[in-house]
Amino acid sequence: MSGHEQFAENLALHALGSLEGEERLALEKHLQECASCRRELESLRGDLALLSLSTAGPKPPARSRERLMAALAREPRRGTTAPPRRSWWVLAPSLAAAALVLLAIFLMRQNSALRQQIAGMDYDAVAQQVELRRAREIVSTLTANDAMRVTLVAAKTPPQPQGKAIYVRDRSSLIFIASNMPAAPPEKAYELWLIPTSGAPIPAGVFRPDAHGSATVVNPPLPAGIEAKAFAITIEPEAGSTTPTMPVVMLGAGE
Ligand SMILES: [Zn+2]
Repeated sequence: MSGHEQFAENLALHALGSLEGEERLALEKHLQECASCRRELESLRGDLALLSLSTAGPKPPARSRERLMAALAREPRRGTTAPPRRSWWVLAPSLAAAALVLLAIFLMRQNSALRQQIAGMDYDAVAQQVELRRAREIVSTLTANDAMRVTLVAAKTPPQPQGKAIYVRDRSSLIFIASNMPAAPPEKAYELWLIPTSGAPIPAGVFRPDAHGSATVVNPPLPAGIEAKAFAITIEPEAGSTTPTMPVVMLGAGE
C-alpha cells in the first residue's frame, strides 16, 4: 500500500466526479487495493448525497459541506517517491469546479425551499378559497331575495320589528339583518348607525325593507377598528345622512 494520504484531495474530486485522466486511473487502481480509501470515498459520496438530499429538508447538514471542503483543502502528504507537489494554481481549477458544484447544490436547495414556499402558498390559497366560498354562501343566504325569513318570538306575542347587528371590530366587518320592519315613508329610508364608545355616530348603511319587512346590510364602509357601544336606526332621506335625524326608531347596545 503506497501512502494513501496522497489521494485525499483526489478522493474528494473523484466523489464530485471531476477527476480525470491518469490521476483517476491511479486512484481507481489504489481504491481496488485500499479499503480505507474506499471507505473515505463512500463517506465523501455520502456527504454529497446528503448535501443534495438536504435540498428537500429543512436543515442542511452543514458538517457534510465542512467535511467536503476540508477534504478538498486537505494538504496531501507525499512520500519521497511522490510526484512534485502541485502548485495552488494547478489545483485552483479543480477547487473552482468543486466550488461550482457546491454552489449548484446550494442553489438547488434554495430552489427547493422556494418551491416548498410556493407549495405552501398554493395550499394557503386553496384554504382561503374554501373559506371565501363558505363566506359567500353564508352572505348569499343572508341576502337572497328568495330566502324565507322567519323571526321566531315567544308564543302569542305579535311579531315585533327587529334588527340584529353582528360586528367584528378588528375587521370593521358588519352584518345587519332586520325583520318585521314597517315600510319606510315615501322618499325616505332607514339608516343604520354605529354608536362608538366615544365620538359621533358613524353611518353604517341605508336600507329599505322588502314587502315582508326584511332587510340586510352587509359590510358597509366603516373606519377601521372602531369600538361600538351600540347600534341605532333612524329614518333619513333615501341617500342617507351624515348625522342622524331624531328620533331614533330602533336601538340596541352590545352585550
Ligand atoms: Zn488508500
